[in-house]
Amino acid sequence: MDTCKMERELMNIVITGHVDHGKSTVIGRLFAETGTLPEGKLEGIRQKCKREGKDFEYAFLLDALKDEQSQGITIDAARAFFKTVKRDYLIIDAPGHIEFLKNMVTGAARAQAAILVIDAKEGVRENSFRHGYMLSLLGIKQIIVVVNKMDLVDYDEKVYNSIVSEYSEFLKKINLKPLMFLPASAVKGDNIAKKSEKLRWYEGDSLLTAIDKFVKEKSSDELPFRMPVQQVYRFTKDGDDRRIVGGRIESGSIKVGDKIVFLPSNKKTKIKSIEEFNSGKKESVSAGYSTGFTMEEEVYVNRGDIMCKLGEKLPNVSTLLKCNLFWMGKNPMEEGKRYKLRLGTTKTPVMLKKIIKNLDASNLEISNKNCIERHDVAECILETENPIAYDLTDEISQTSRFVIIDGYDQAGGGIIVEAIEDEQKVSREQVYIREDKWYSSDISRNERINEYGQNPRLILITGPKKVDKKVIAKKLERKLFESGKYVYYLGIGNLLRGLNADIDKEKRHEHVRRLGEVSHLMLDSGLIVIATASDLTVDELKLLKAIIHQDDMLKIYVDGEKPDEMIDLLLEKDEGVEDNVKKIVELLKKKGVLLK
Ligand code: GDP
Repeated sequence: MDTCKMERELMNIVITGHVDHGKSTVIGRLFAETGTLPEGKLEGIRQKCKREGKDFEYAFLLDALKDEQSQGITIDAARAFFKTVKRDYLIIDAPGHIEFLKNMVTGAARAQAAILVIDAKEGVRENSFRHGYMLSLLGIKQIIVVVNKMDLVDYDEKVYNSIVSEYSEFLKKINLKPLMFLPASAVKGDNIAKKSEKLRWYEGDSLLTAIDKFVKEKSSDELPFRMPVQQVYRFTKDGDDRRIVGGRIESGSIKVGDKIVFLPSNKKTKIKSIEEFNSGKKESVSAGYSTGFTMEEEVYVNRGDIMCKLGEKLPNVSTLLKCNLFWMGKNPMEEGKRYKLRLGTTKTPVMLKKIIKNLDASNLEISNKNCIERHDVAECILETENPIAYDLTDEISQTSRFVIIDGYDQAGGGIIVEAIEDEQKVSREQVYIREDKWYSSDISRNERINEYGQNPRLILITGPKKVDKKVIAKKLERKLFESGKYVYYLGIGNLLRGLNADIDKEKRHEHVRRLGEVSHLMLDSGLIVIATASDLTVDELKLLKAIIHQDDMLKIYVDGEKPDEMIDLLLEKDEGVEDNVKKIVELLKKKGVLLK
């Protein structure tokens, strides 16, 4: 790419509207009349139509471009570029709102502005409302509404005005103020690239001059630094303890020597080097790049953590969040049922805690259903099982978008609009202080892992009181010990009458906290720790996860009935101890706990 091109501004806009209202035709016209098309393209398509006995349609242009793109000639299928004097535009075509929403919330396509097309003859349709609402839901505030097909209503100003007034009223309700409305006929070319005699009563811009009035958002490298950790690569050579933390930078920029923090784990260190995958070392790097870092001091981080820069505004860390959610699942989203939430590179079990407002996206009627049905848009509170780091959509949209997975299907998506503190906030902050002041051993976690041939892990065996979990725990300890592992069975009773002798039996929170801290010390020494507990509540489990890194814990549940909380392994109490132990050992191998 030459430098001249690189300096040109690029803006992504999405075009949306009810099917057949003329989106493709509007785009085709824009392409044809801005000289963006390859030479002979337009003529070629006209000829092709003639040969096939079809009437020429501007909409075919887009299809033809897409065909070329899908053959790998240009970038990817649902995208197309065109230019004006002011800047380049990437048009994100939104053939179906579901596809569009999916792309928007997964970040596959991020639009800063939108063109919404309404057919003058058909008027405002259900999807016109739905799309408007979705734009607002996705935080796209710059919108141009094109009242298309004016030729079909004899370019009548009254028809135009009545659509403007109906749709404006709707947009007002959802707090959207469009940049402008404009009348057009994409087929006839009226008011798309140039003003038209037939619309003399209209004094505003043509679509082409209108889009140049969109204002470019702050670019993502001016925002605080965020990089969801994709992978941690280890050097495998003997004695080399370095690791590269890799991922895609979603926002901000960073340079060698900057102090960083990984959240939610709160591990802090400094950037030692920036390792570009293709171009070797670099001094600084910014949003949009996939890159890797080595660190001054090795810290233990995992996929899912978000790397941030100290001294800048940091994301929220919580298990609660308030969001706008769009549901597209076959089955409705229900309170109390468990789903998975994916944000950045993290994935955690999640539950719908409370519906604040639920609107049918087509008519914006508020319903008081206790579930979110397909195509509903809900303002609601979600509760994740593991703490996550997130931003708010008004601040950094990239790390505020998430997807909800039901079974194997992507069933919903949304943006986070408000941070909510959870019960573990105080404990988590205590842990952050612990981490900041932690006096690290000269023997690193990695060295211990290599020496002991095992990854430290807390194996928590839980289940109802009546089931004897201790027998399994002790058998497991013996089996691991005899195969050369460094393992310890931590009897809760031993804590009760020792470390915890000063606290009341009723103070469960403090007992759990201390169990967590003792386990944390043992994990730091490289051990596999086995503990048993009866009837742990979800909050207690969350507390443990605030103290120990969530990935350092495996939860095994004994007894037939599947409990509410997410577990790593379910055992039958009648199975026999030997078999159950065997199953746990297999799990440990699968999870990479047992190495040699
Ligand atoms: P999309 O589904 O929104 O992409 O709609 P298309 O662009 O494919 O258009 C649907 C149909 O409406 C096509 O047959 C177009 O030729 C026609 N159409 C699009 N714009 C206009 C217009 O301004 N006037 C008239 N009369 N027809 C139009």
